[in-house]
Amino acid sequence: MIASMQGKRGLIMGVANNHSIAWGIAKALAGAGAELAFTYQGEALGKRVKPLAAELGSDFLLPCDVEDLASVDAVVAALKERWGTLDFVVHAIGFSDKNELKGLYADTSRENFVRTMVISCFSFTEIAKRAAEIMSDDGSMLTLTYGGSVRIMPNYNVMGVAKAALEASVRYLAGDYGPRGIRVNAISAGPIRTLAGAGIADARAMLSWQQKNSPLRRTVTIEDVGGSALYLLSDLSRGVTGEIHYVDSGYNITSMPTVDLLNK
Ligand code: NAD
Repeated sequence: MIASMQGKRGLIMGVANNHSIAWGIAKALAGAGAELAFTYQGEALGKRVKPLAAELGSDFLLPCDVEDLASVDAVVAALKERWGTLDFVVHAIGFSDKNELKGLYADTSRENFVRTMVISCFSFTEIAKRAAEIMSDDGSMLTLTYGGSVRIMPNYNVMGVAKAALEASVRYLAGDYGPRGIRVNAISAGPIRTLAGAGIADARAMLSWQQKNSPLRRTVTIEDVGGSALYLLSDLSRGVTGEIHYVDSGYNITSMPTVDLLNK
């Protein structure tokens, strides 16, 4: 059995450039035959996303800033008008003030806590609710999280708290929409060099630590995430929902630096 997305139509949210995790996912889905629509945050990013979408045969681009709920409503209205129904949605959106992605978590400001939660967590619930209204009964939703939700990672701070809430949202949404056959899952990706990833202090050190200490002894790529996303969005995973699926070279199962490092 192979993963086929022939005849399936879906929305990709979160492509900023060709390093974005959402781009790795979009490539995998288009390669399996899916028809894609893309959102972009602001005109400057739109100019970058347009040629990328065209590379995958899509001219369906919609502006969306999740802080503006009217723009989310407009996206769903446009999807309904052009396609009628939707088979899948990918939410690869996250933001926090980079001045607070360093130092102590305890120094997080109330303003940035709320903003981080709205953009990085609650937006998925708002999108899921609206997407479900036009989704086919075997639809699939996917968001992106990071292991800083369950363990403390240096400088990840408030993003870790938002990702913990996002992962809980995945389970509640899976409960809400499961009776209709709609599945909701997350991929917990290892660190990858992207625009958002670069906002975290000492990101380079995190990458190098993962590369040395994960069982596979390497960091993951957007293509690695794309392959797992294809599985979670296709019928191959039709029995899977509410899951946090790690694509992190196995880093999450480790408990101490690797033996070869300790022996040095
Ligand atoms: P990226 O910078 O390429 O993508 C982040 C996207 O979020 C951008 O497209 C940006 O436009 C969008 N965004 C931010 N604020 C928004 C808003 N208000 N409205 C609409 N869109 C908004 O970085 P990425 O690493 O590909 O991030 C994608 C997702 O993957 C994020 O949720 C991130 O937390 C998660 N993730 C990243 C890593 C990593 O190491 N890069 C690891 C695990 C999880």
